[in-house]
Amino acid sequence: MTDRFNQPLGGNDMPRFGGPASMMRLPVQTGAAGLDACFIGIPMDIGTSNRPGTRLGPRQIRAESCMLRPYNMATGAAPFDHLQVADIGDVPINTFDLKKSIDIIAAHYREVLAAGALPLTLGGDHTLTWPILRAMREKHGPVALIHIDAHADINDTMFGESVAHGCPFRRAWEEGCLINENVFQIGLRGTGYSPEDFDWGRKQGWTVVQAEACWHKSLTPLMADIRAQIGAAPVYISFDIDSLDPAFAPGTGTVEIGGLTIWQALEIIRGCAGLNVIGADLVEVSPPYDPSGNTALIGANLLYEMLCILPGVPQRAPA
Ligand code: MN
Ligand code: MN
Repeated sequence: MTDRFNQPLGGNDMPRFGGPASMMRLPVQTGAAGLDACFIGIPMDIGTSNRPGTRLGPRQIRAESCMLRPYNMATGAAPFDHLQVADIGDVPINTFDLKKSIDIIAAHYREVLAAGALPLTLGGDHTLTWPILRAMREKHGPVALIHIDAHADINDTMFGESVAHGCPFRRAWEEGCLINENVFQIGLRGTGYSPEDFDWGRKQGWTVVQAEACWHKSLTPLMADIRAQIGAAPVYISFDIDSLDPAFAPGTGTVEIGGLTIWQALEIIRGCAGLNVIGADLVEVSPPYDPSGNTALIGANLLYEMLCILPGVPQRAPA
């Protein structure tokens, strides 16, 4: 451990249930100046189509993150020895206006990216990924996308509206944010309106891995294929917690049975090590449907795992 970088407040310095509830008990600062990576909350649920509550997601993920320790025992990653990280608080969305909130989020991420920090986002409903990808495209050009979700989120409209949590990747595609041959959707399943729900992306050249193709398997080989395909391109990771089976993560708004396991989620994120990851989000945690806190706890852990695979964090060679 080094004193050069911010460290999470340790459980031997302050009880884990005490102190300010920042992400991983990291220092809080305004803006991303001087940071290599930052946690940002987007307390939003005005894009949801079914059960609400994700506006409370960032706060609950932060609360459950108090258990996280700095060293990754599985991968050897020690992100706080290599990156300057802080919690930079929440994006002040307009909770009465979803479309205005899109522009507020994009402007906020432009500033974060201009400061040179890699953003790790605590959602919030999935609408928020569209304006983040807009800011990413402005900095990096079109990006590769690894999207883990029960749903494709490529609807043209929902209830006649073009901005909703089922539309972000359609909007990002329209704006030229995505490298089509480097878009991977993993975990899709459930009932649909038509086969087009999953085939639309395939027609754009995207790789769609439905949940049934993941059952009973390690996803480590899939991730090796994805890394080989993406190569050095900039990559954004968008992780909808409803990709996980509701046996693990029931605290979300649009639940589908037959989902991914926790260990598959870890294989996916750890399988992103070595890629040029430029940012990531963890969305759709809905605390009112999460009385145990387990869904938020999973979200906090997966955000930590995302931090551990960012460029500049060494991984221990596999034993
Ligand atoms: Mn989604
Ligand atoms: Mn979903």
